[in-house]
Amino acid sequence: MSRGYTAAIGIEVHVQLKTRSKIFCACSTEFGARPNSQVCPVCLGLPGVLPVLNKRAVDLAIKAALALNCKIASRCQFARKNYFYPDLPKGFQITQYELPLATEGYITVELPGESGQTVSKRVRIRRLHLEEDAGKSLHNEQINQEGTSLVDYNRCGVPLIEIVSEPDMETPEEARLYLLKLKAIMQYCQISDCNMQEGSLRCDANVSIRDENGRLGERTEIKNLNSFRFLKRALQYEIDRHIKVIEAGGRVQQATYGFNAATGRTFLMRSKEQEHDYRYFPEPDLVFLQVDEDWVREVRQTIPELPDARLERLCSQYGLPRYDAAVLTSSFELADYFEECASLFADAKAVSNWVMGSVLHAVKERNIPLRQCAVTPERLAELLGLVKDGKISGKVAKQVFERVLETGKGPAEIVAEEGLSTVTDEEALSQIIRQLAEQRQDLVAKVRKGNLNVLGFFVGQTLKKTNGLADPKVVNRLVRQIILGEDKR
Ligand code: ADP
Ligand code: MG
Ligand code: ZN
Repeated sequence: MSRGYTAAIGIEVHVQLKTRSKIFCACSTEFGARPNSQVCPVCLGLPGVLPVLNKRAVDLAIKAALALNCKIASRCQFARKNYFYPDLPKGFQITQYELPLATEGYITVELPGESGQTVSKRVRIRRLHLEEDAGKSLHNEQINQEGTSLVDYNRCGVPLIEIVSEPDMETPEEARLYLLKLKAIMQYCQISDCNMQEGSLRCDANVSIRDENGRLGERTEIKNLNSFRFLKRALQYEIDRHIKVIEAGGRVQQATYGFNAATGRTFLMRSKEQEHDYRYFPEPDLVFLQVDEDWVREVRQTIPELPDARLERLCSQYGLPRYDAAVLTSSFELADYFEECASLFADAKAVSNWVMGSVLHAVKERNIPLRQCAVTPERLAELLGLVKDGKISGKVAKQVFERVLETGKGPAEIVAEEGLSTVTDEEALSQIIRQLAEQRQDLVAKVRKGNLNVLGFFVGQTLKKTNGLADPKVVNRLVRQIILGEDKR
């Protein structure tokens, strides 16, 4: 950052829990249903009904808290946060305020260091609490009706956790890495789909500039950053704006901003509301939530190997650089893909290079989930095998990779069909024969003593190495040339 300024960034994330029903009623949480088809008197806030807490939602929230290294409160409490908005039919949101489910956790992010190394940094988590979602307002162009707004209450009462970090991040890139890691942990644990397009992962970012004594300045909050790219761009814009204000001798006003992706700028939404504006008070329809040690222990057993542990294991088990392991463990699907392929092809670093390069590039370019990639772990292993055995060159391998993507056929099949094999290349064939001769000098000696039958061994092995694709006549001639030193063609 310019002129020695340091930013402080704190992030608030809302994660939708993977439950079938809502947090206080039995309505479905299914995404994409007809508007207002998944509602009942409880989530619509009609009189005379009471909320009943969904245990599955609490299980998942505890799981999240444990995976984020938080302390679980033995007793927590729901509270009402009062405000009016058309998408909030009750006039309040049930959330947790003074007594949240969990506090004092952290996420470790790997910051890029020198030459493939990374530096680990802990970003502290202040609190994690349970709450219900509000409905969804749809305006103007979203519904093709200028000057009209409609509300869909299906999302009212969908269970969320809010995860609030300390302002420990210093750059937009750190913020992005934090969110990536958080998302990975939630997905490893099957806590949430974390689908940003569908709103099951939502992010607000707070940012301020530290003064020369390191004290935090006045902060602004940027709401609803629904992609990693927007998070970075919005933060960079806001940091630059703060610095301009400070350098002009002004003061940053605490306020809430939105981000306009089209212009790349933030815009003022409202001057920041104060906490007391919400008139929080304990939810009278729900008792304290008590989470005892047995419950915590039970949930702890359901936590799989988490990204950090898997990163360490990939380093030690496969001898990968930390950088590689960090990329590969960024999602469990990617880590699974790598390990599946590495179990079939022994050179793990080669596998890693291909997965981080060609495979990731292919799924990004095509915007498809990894499991839909035509180059499966088996096929990648097959492709790498072809290179290792000298059947194709590394350059041709890239070409074959693309063809597998395009056609859905296997690598060997494509090599055969499209004549890409080195077996049509006498130089490559000679290379294989020379290698064999090197390995079996005993047999070479036999041939040279006059036992010409042994030549058959070299022909056979060469054909085998080319999957039988080479022309036996050519191989025969080359073997005689090389082993017997017959020079003429
Ligand atoms: P609020 O309740 O108004 O949302 P919080 O104190 O709960 O405010 O903080 C919300 C988020 O703002 C947290 O993620 C926190 O880390 C971050 N934050 C607080 N102060 C600052 C600051 N000066 N600069 C950057 N982020 C901050
Ligand atoms: Mg807050
Ligand atoms: Zn309901």
